[in-house]
Amino acid sequence: MVTFYYCKRCGRICISDESCKKCDCCGAAAYPVPQKYWDEDDVIMRDEQQKLLREELVKTSPVFDEDLFNRRDDIITSQVNRVFHVYYPSTISCF
Ligand SMILES: [Zn+2]
Repeated sequence: MVTFYYCKRCGRICISDESCKKCDCCGAAAYPVPQKYWDEDDVIMRDEQQKLLREELVKTSPVFDEDLFNRRDDIITSQVNRVFHVYYPSTISCF
């Protein structure tokens, strides 16, 4: 079963199976996204849902790191090129 996971520290959101327990951006623990942010048959989270989740759950988190949050896309881009397929072979897609 595909589930969405998010990181409370940098705001990374992944679609994955059960193996995605750690954020592939900053290494912090990843948490399942509450059902209210996505529908049963969604294959991706809509932009406004991602934004809402980040406003409500990430930016209010005690471990939120604004610097990482802002650099997330750059970090992911460089990681994807380097090690993505080695360390996260079961990840279906991330955004
Ligand atoms: Zn993270």
